[in-house]
Amino acid sequence: MAGAAKPYAEVRESVRALCAQFPASYWRELDRGRDYPKAFVDALTKAGFLSALIPEEFGGSGLPLSAAAAILEEVQAAGCNGAACHAQMYMMGTLLRHGNAVQKQKYLPEIAAGKIRLQAFGVTEPTSGTDTLGIATTAKRDGESYVINGQKIWTSRAEHSDLMLLLARTAPKEQVKKRSEGLSVFIIEMREALGKGLAIRPIRTMMNHATTEVFIENLRVPAENLIGEEGQGFRYILSGMNAERILIAAECVGDAKWFIEKASAYAKERSVFSRPIGQNQGVQFPIARAYAQMRAAELMVAEAAGRYQRGEDCGEEANLAKLLTADASWTAANMYVQTHGDFDFAEEYNIERKFRETRLYQVAPISTNLILSYLAEHVLGLPRSY
Ligand SMILES: Cc1cc2nc3c(=O)[nH]c(=O)nc-3n(C[C@H](O)[C@H](O)[C@H](O)COP(=O)(O)OP(=O)(O)OC[C@H]3O[C@@H](n4cnc5c(N)ncnc54)[C@H](O)[C@@H]3O)c2cc1C
Repeated sequence: MAGAAKPYAEVRESVRALCAQFPASYWRELDRGRDYPKAFVDALTKAGFLSALIPEEFGGSGLPLSAAAAILEEVQAAGCNGAACHAQMYMMGTLLRHGNAVQKQKYLPEIAAGKIRLQAFGVTEPTSGTDTLGIATTAKRDGESYVINGQKIWTSRAEHSDLMLLLARTAPKEQVKKRSEGLSVFIIEMREALGKGLAIRPIRTMMNHATTEVFIENLRVPAENLIGEEGQGFRYILSGMNAERILIAAECVGDAKWFIEKASAYAKERSVFSRPIGQNQGVQFPIARAYAQMRAAELMVAEAAGRYQRGEDCGEEANLAKLLTADASWTAANMYVQTHGDFDFAEEYNIERKFRETRLYQVAPISTNLILSYLAEHVLGLPRSY
C-alpha cells in the first residue's frame, strides 16, 4: 500500500516473511476450535520479535516502543492476530521501569531466550470494570510473603503464560491519602501458583482470544515479587497502560491496512454490470475515506510512541492514538464488509474473523467513553464526571 516510508523497514519485512508462514487457513482452523496459536507465538519468540523491548544486556534487542509498534502493526496487516502475545511487549515497561535489579536478572534473560512467557495482565475484576481503583483483590503481608485473595476477569492468555503481573490492594481505601495509593503490583509465577491458590477458567468469546477468569484464594507470593514500592502500583500500571494503548493502536492501524488493501483489490477484480465495482464512486469513496482516516490515526501512534520512548508524558497522545485507530480500523472493517458484499459472510474469506477481532478495540483495553472522558477532564479541563 502507498504512503510515507516507514521506519524499521527491515524489521517489518522480516515480520511479514514470518507471517507468510501462517496463512489465513491456519487462523481459521484455530478460530473454529478457539485454540491458542502456539506455533505462531513460538515462531515470533524464536525470531526475537517478542523480546524487542528487552535491553541487550538481558538478551533482547533493546529496541524502543516504536519498533514494537511496527512489529505488531505488521502482524495485523498480514492478517494474523497479535492478541495471542502482544501483552509481553506492553507489560515489559512495568518490569523494566519499576522492577528491581534482581527481578530483571531473574526473569528478563529467560523471557528473551523464549524459555518463559510474560503474557498475563491481571487488572480487571468483575465488580469494578473500568474503575481500576475499585478493585477488591487484596494482598496482605505475612512475614516474608504476601497472601492474596480475590478474583480477576478477562485475564487474557493466563493459561499460556508463565508469569502474570497482578494488581492487588495492599491498603484499604479508607487508610490511604490519595485514591490512587494502596495498590501494589506483583509478579506471579503461574506454574508454581496453579492449584496452590490460583485457578483459571477459560471464557469462550466472540473471537479467539484465550481470555479467562482467575480465582485467587490464599495464594502465597514471596515478598521479593513485589514490583517497586508497596502502595504505588497504580502508577506503575498506568505507565504500562500507556504502552498498551499505543501498541494496540498500532495493531488497529495494521487491521485497517489489511481491510483497505483487501477491499481495494476486490473492488478492482470483482465485475458486476460488466465493469469493476471499484469503478463506481459509491464503492471507491468509502475505501478512500477509510484510507484517509487510517493515515491520520497512524500519525498519532507515531507521536505517542515517540513521547513514550523519550520518557515524556504521553497520556493524551496514547489515548488519542487508541481512540482514533480503533475508529479507523472499525470504519475500515465496515467498509470492507460493504465492498465485499455477500461473500463476507462465508468463513473462508476471513473477513468475518477479522471483523470480530477488530471490534474488541472499541471496548478493550479501554472503552471509547473512558478515553473521551479522559480527554474532556484531563486535557480540556471540563468538570470531573466520576
Ligand atoms: C476479550 C477481552 C480481553 C481482555 N483482556 C484483559 C486482560 O488481559 N487484562 C485485564 O486486566 N483486562 C482485560 N480486559 C478488560 C478490559 O480492559 C475491560 O473490558 C475494559 O477496560 C472495559 O471494561 P468494561 O466494559 O467491563 O467496563 P465497565 O466499567 O463495566 O463499563 C461498561 C460500559 O459503561 C461505560 N462506562 C462506565 N463508566 C462510565 C463513565 N463514567 N462514563 C461514561 N461511560 C462509562 C463504559 O465505557 C462501557 O461502555 C479484557 C476485556 C476483553 C473483553
